[in-house]
Parts: sequence; C-alpha cells; structure tokens
Amino acid sequence: MFSERVERLSGSLIREILAAAQRPEVISFAGGLPAADCLPALDFKGVPPALAQYGTSEGEPELREQIAREAARIGLPCDPSQVLVLSGSQQALDLAAKLFIDPGTPVITEGPTYLAALQVFKLFGADITTVQQVDGQLPAATLAAALDSSKARLAYLIPTFQNPSGACYTPDTRKALAEVIDAAGTVLIEDDPYRALSYDGDAPAPLVTHLKSASWIYCGSFSKTLAPGLRIGYLIASPDLMPYLLKLKQAVDLHSNRLGQWFISEWLKSGNYPAHLAGLQAKYKVGRDAMQTALEKHFADLADWQVPQGGLFFWLKLKTTRDTRELLKVALGEHNVAFMPGEPFYANQADGIGRLRLNFSHATPDRIEEGVARLAKLIRDTQ
Ligand code: PMP
Repeated sequence: MFSERVERLSGSLIREILAAAQRPEVISFAGGLPAADCLPALDFKGVPPALAQYGTSEGEPELREQIAREAARIGLPCDPSQVLVLSGSQQALDLAAKLFIDPGTPVITEGPTYLAALQVFKLFGADITTVQQVDGQLPAATLAAALDSSKARLAYLIPTFQNPSGACYTPDTRKALAEVIDAAGTVLIEDDPYRALSYDGDAPAPLVTHLKSASWIYCGSFSKTLAPGLRIGYLIASPDLMPYLLKLKQAVDLHSNRLGQWFISEWLKSGNYPAHLAGLQAKYKVGRDAMQTALEKHFADLADWQVPQGGLFFWLKLKTTRDTRELLKVALGEHNVAFMPGEPFYANQADGIGRLRLNFSHATPDRIEEGVARLAKLIRDTQ
C-alpha cells in the first residue's frame, strides 16, 4: 500500500527524546531550542488584511529583499531573485533531495552531520559517503578523495558552528574546500542556521562565496535567532538552480505562510534585530562558558572536546567506547538528565559510539552545572 520510499523512512530520535525531556524535573541538554525568555512576543497587530490571500511561491518581495541585504552583509551578495522563502530551512533539504537524489545517488556529508539531513537524504535513497572532521576542520584532501571515489552529485556541509560538533572552518579551509568542489563539479549545499550565534567574533564568510563554477544552495533560517515556531527559513541559490527549486516549492506547499513572513519582515525593519542578536549572543555565551567550566570540573578525565565559538552545542568524545543511546536511557529514566546520543549524527551509526551532544542555550548556568555533574557521576559509576 505504501511507496517503496517508505521503507527508508526513519523516525527522528530527537523528537522522541524532546517529548520525554519536557518533564520539568529533567535538565535537558538534548534539543537545540532557543531560551524561552529570548523568544519575541508574537504581536500581530497591524497585519495587513490582504495577507489572508494566497501569496507568491517565491516569498514576500519585501522579505526577499531584506534577506538579500542581510546576505550581502555577511559577504554573500545576491539578487533577491535568488532568494526563496521556505517553511523552515529544513524545507531546503527536502527540495534539494528531490532535485538531486534518486535511489543510489552518491552524496557526501561531514562526519558527524545534522541528523535530520541524513533522515531526508536517506529517504530519497542517497548512498552517503562520510568525510570525517579532524580537529574541528574538514581536510580538503580527504574531501577531494571522497569526491573522486564516490562521484558524488551533492555535498552537504555545515561549515559554521556545526550541528552537532560546533566546528567552524577557517577561511583557508573554506577556500580549499571550495576549490575541491569546483574541480569536481559537485553541487554544494551549505547549511548555515547558526552563523548569528557567535561568541568570540564574527564567523568567516560563507563557503559558497569562494566557489567559482559549482552550483550551490545556501540555507538560512530565523529559527535560531527569532522563533522556530513560525517555521520561516530560506534558501539562496545559484541562478541555474532557481527555476527547479521554485517549481519544487510550488509542488510542496504553494508558498510559505504569509503571517510568519510578515512578522519577520517587521522585525528586520524595526531596527531592533541587531540588539536582539547581541542579547542572544551575550546570554548564550554565558551558557557556553558555564558548560565549559562544568565540563572542565567533571569531565576532564572522561571525555575530549573543543570549545565551540558559536552555535548551541558541545560535542563530547568519551574516552571509553560506549553506546550513548543506552547511556541516555539511564540518564533520562533514573537521573533526569537528557542529551543527544552521537549515533544518529552519522550515516554509519557505529561511527558515533561514545559521542554525545550537549546543548547549552536552554538550561540556566546552575542547572548546567548540576546536569553535567549528574551525567559525569553516572558515567563514572557505570564504567
Ligand atoms: N539545519 C541544521 C544544521 C539545523 O540544526 C536545523 C535545526 N535544528 C535545521 C537545518 C532546520 O532548521 P529550521 O527550523 O529552519 O527548519
């Protein structure tokens, strides 16, 4: 009764963990949720009545222009006609998968990578080759070898404050990766929802800005900076891809919801956005530093990690190999601490054994210390 594709459909572990982690007594390091007190008040006063009507598939013209201006500010000048407003940047992954992936199509991702990208790519039957990060960078020579042997049609990268590793590639790494992608003629998807959450200075310009000939899709989002519940994200693409992406968008949902687009447009216009971002950065930096202090105190002999310069996560490599999915069951069930196990962040789940992701934007500094202490004790007691 179902399509052949449904056999490749996997559940989202994180959605299940988040449901369990909502109990108030749980200290949750699991999700990538903005802090509740950083969410904007949803004030829709003054919304033009005309927005009740169907809109354009491309998105509201004013918002497309604002997004193009914002892109120019981060070093990615583009024309508003290259911007497609989406129902969350997750939709960019769905559209890209539909455009490029047939069963067996070779696709490259980083190891680790964003688990819901794997979920979409696998649904469409991608044959995924993983390029492992080394010391927080992606070695260009390894990518070149993987592109050569896999003949990948698509490379999906998250170069800035990656989910889950927190890694941020240097300008030199970005240039070297772009050269390799140009040489292979592979399409690049750059996923960039965390850029604005930087705690030690601005992030380097997007990787796509270094491309000379390859086609590309750059994905951006308002979920981490404003309100994920509005489900408004966008893509910016090289002009050759736009006609296809637009038709795919039409086929999915005609257009993104106009109220959410209007709300975001008003925010960008209000002049309050830079101060709002500065507030987020200041608050999350405190969370990042609190978690680093707690980890140094409780995890120094248990795990290795790098301090993320932005984004929402620490990525821990335990010194002993253990299945962090099993650890989570006990941590959540008996000690009221939630985290994300490492396995779902790899196409080959076994690569994620002994790794875990900890979010620092949601819990208060006190709860961060308490949760990290509880987790360390559990690991020590069950080693
Ligand atoms: N890409 C990455 C790397 C993410 O971490 C997320 C959200 N967790 C998304 C895309 C999807 O974001 P959105 O809410 O814009 O769909």
